[in-house]
Amino acid sequence: MEWQAPKIQRRKSRQITVGTVKVGGDAPISVQSMTCTDTMDVDATVNQILALENAGADIVRVTVPTLEAADAFEQIVKQVHIPVVSDIHFDYRIAIECAKKGAAALRINPGNIGSHEKIEMVCQAAKDHGLPIRVGVNAGSLDKDLLEKYGSPCPDAMVEAALRAAQTLDEHNFTDYAFSVKASELNLCVAAYRQLAKKTDAPLHLGITEAGGLTGGTVLSAIGIGQLLQEGIGDTLRVSLAADPVEEIKVGWAILKSLHLRSRGVQIVACPTCGRRGIDVVATVNELESRLSDIRQSIKIAVMGCVVNGPGEAKHADIAVCGGAKGNCLIYENGEMMGKFPCSQAVQIIEDRVRARVK
Ligand code: SF4
Repeated sequence: MEWQAPKIQRRKSRQITVGTVKVGGDAPISVQSMTCTDTMDVDATVNQILALENAGADIVRVTVPTLEAADAFEQIVKQVHIPVVSDIHFDYRIAIECAKKGAAALRINPGNIGSHEKIEMVCQAAKDHGLPIRVGVNAGSLDKDLLEKYGSPCPDAMVEAALRAAQTLDEHNFTDYAFSVKASELNLCVAAYRQLAKKTDAPLHLGITEAGGLTGGTVLSAIGIGQLLQEGIGDTLRVSLAADPVEEIKVGWAILKSLHLRSRGVQIVACPTCGRRGIDVVATVNELESRLSDIRQSIKIAVMGCVVNGPGEAKHADIAVCGGAKGNCLIYENGEMMGKFPCSQAVQIIEDRVRARVK
């Protein structure tokens, strides 16, 4: 019998609804990103969100730093198809404005939103418009009194910040909230999430904040978010990269696919190649990734340099190509060999087979 990876038992969380997307409970773990355009530039922000939608984003977050930006936010929301969360710091009045202007959820940072009364007012606005709130704690912007109490950012301080904000919401019978407790220090961040997961059944939004550039940030996020997901913690995630936000969506999906928590689009297994290769693996992978980026269905393709490991991987892939001799390759579908073809035709044949399968 084929070996099966153990199924991850997800932590039981209550469910909230962000626009059309359910978060928590048995809902699939959603993938989020955040725009990096100037929110006042409506066209640029809409275009970036459309690109994120195309890459598979379930939810997007847009910063709304001023009351004027809330007007732009209203225009943006009308032109996109996925739920848009307004990201609010410092000024609770902007959160109230965004609630009126089409936000699917409000993200507030308890470290800078201000007094208990201000959180109450945001809570009332969310209630009036049927919106959830994300209490987004960040180790870099904790309340002064917590820093004094604990000396420096630590899991206890982050969890206390989250629960303290939630207490205000609970007092108003408002339970449609999620938490995040992000830090750029991987171990601090993971420890804070672990601790919080034991203290609440609210959904958790995972992320390692300010993780870095494409390579470093991807590694850090995969380790941090990956560990938590493997322990069953996490209902939605955002990979934070100093890169095009579309990359955040790609990495988010790659993490979920790797853990078999969710699948979408083409997954390519490829060998690193060596002197034995009979096909240009790197060029084939790049070409397939680019041509098949619109595929939403889950399809596994193996691109293997030679017959050492090629036929073995082909057995576990929907479609596979394996380099052979004299410029030829072997193409497989459902583990069965379709035949021998010139390597130059491989990409086209695979694309045709993929499109035929998803029709
Ligand atoms: Fe090298 Fe073949 Fe292994 Fe690829 S499958 S790394 S080409 S031995």
